[in-house]
Amino acid sequence: MIKSAYQTLLVVLVLVAGSLVAQNADIVIRNGHVIDAKNNINSVMDVAITDGKISQVGPKLSVNAKKTIDATGLYVVPGLIDLHGHHYYGTEPDHYLSDGYSALPPDGFTFRAGVTAVVDAGGSGWRNFTDFRDQTFLNSKTKMFAFLNIVGAGMRGGAYEQNTTDMDSKLTALVAKQYPDQIVGIKLAHFMSSDWTPTDRAVEAGRQAGIPVMIDFGAANPVLSWDTLLLKKLRPGDIVTHCFGQTDGRMHVVENGTVQPYAFKAQQRGIIFDVGHGGGSFMYSQAIPAIKQGLKPNTISTDLHTGSMNGGMKDMANVMSKLLNIGLSLQEVIAKSTWEPAKVINKKDLGNLSPGAPADVALFSVDTGKFGFIDVGNNKMTGDKKLTCHLTLLNGEVVWDLNGLAANPYKP
Ligand SMILES: [Zn+2]
Repeated sequence: MIKSAYQTLLVVLVLVAGSLVAQNADIVIRNGHVIDAKNNINSVMDVAITDGKISQVGPKLSVNAKKTIDATGLYVVPGLIDLHGHHYYGTEPDHYLSDGYSALPPDGFTFRAGVTAVVDAGGSGWRNFTDFRDQTFLNSKTKMFAFLNIVGAGMRGGAYEQNTTDMDSKLTALVAKQYPDQIVGIKLAHFMSSDWTPTDRAVEAGRQAGIPVMIDFGAANPVLSWDTLLLKKLRPGDIVTHCFGQTDGRMHVVENGTVQPYAFKAQQRGIIFDVGHGGGSFMYSQAIPAIKQGLKPNTISTDLHTGSMNGGMKDMANVMSKLLNIGLSLQEVIAKSTWEPAKVINKKDLGNLSPGAPADVALFSVDTGKFGFIDVGNNKMTGDKKLTCHLTLLNGEVVWDLNGLAANPYKP
């Protein structure tokens, strides 16, 4: 009995001594307010990074680091995941978002807004995914994923996206299964006819490849039934993007000021409501009443391309700021831009700060003042809170540093 107590004491002493020995780290971010939805963290903590990965998160870490970053007054969050962007940029004329001028190289637009991973929403189809991969994936630091367009030619615009003979479930699924690390879903967009064929083909491709489908439901005329789409055609885990858009023929979650019952029912059965702001798909007339009545988006995304970034959308931080001012909490806004999209695309090593996860980290301030936010109808909402990205780390490397938080002091 005495021997056993002695042994227990010895173990406790060893543990205490071990915890007092400072660990080595490459970087420690101190005194920031950490928000990590996966790990239920929402308080002031330190974050240590070693070999490009998160090594420790906790209050007042005993760490010897090569570099200390003071994050006092800032929020420290996982690198953001933008679930809907357009990055198959190229120089082919009349190619819209598939190897054309309207798509954007990710690194020039992501890090400055705290984004470290993007999902291209349908720029390529099964015919040209490898071209997209060689052109953009292999030349970008931003972590890249793709929803493969059900149209074999991808998002070339116009007639190409109306061609049901180029919507092949089997070939789309085959290419998706060939590149499971990069292709995380199937996309259908911009279809204008009152016909379920494209939806059925996209869902079938998603079923064969075991991945979700993201639907931009075009503007069918006459309008197809949203009840049928959301409650019968789509599977739990499938995504409806542009969820607060208001275009003829598209989903309106709000009619006459009231959220449609199908929208709540669909969200309850696991359909993901994604913002996908874009240049024409985010109206306050939808977003404000929907959120006030309890229909919150599951994920926040930009629909980034040349047609959205210079309008009301701007960037991920701006879209998040809008939702913060409409009434989502900061914790919700961060979760819906990090851990929630990571789960949707089944990349659960991202969007969190668990020890061992890649050190993709963003530091934000929530500035207070009087700010204006514009929707796609040129309507302005004023708000008193705005997110600014100060620092972004990708695999532990500084890729954006607004005010020199991680830079060396100048010595003449
Ligand atoms: Zn889009």
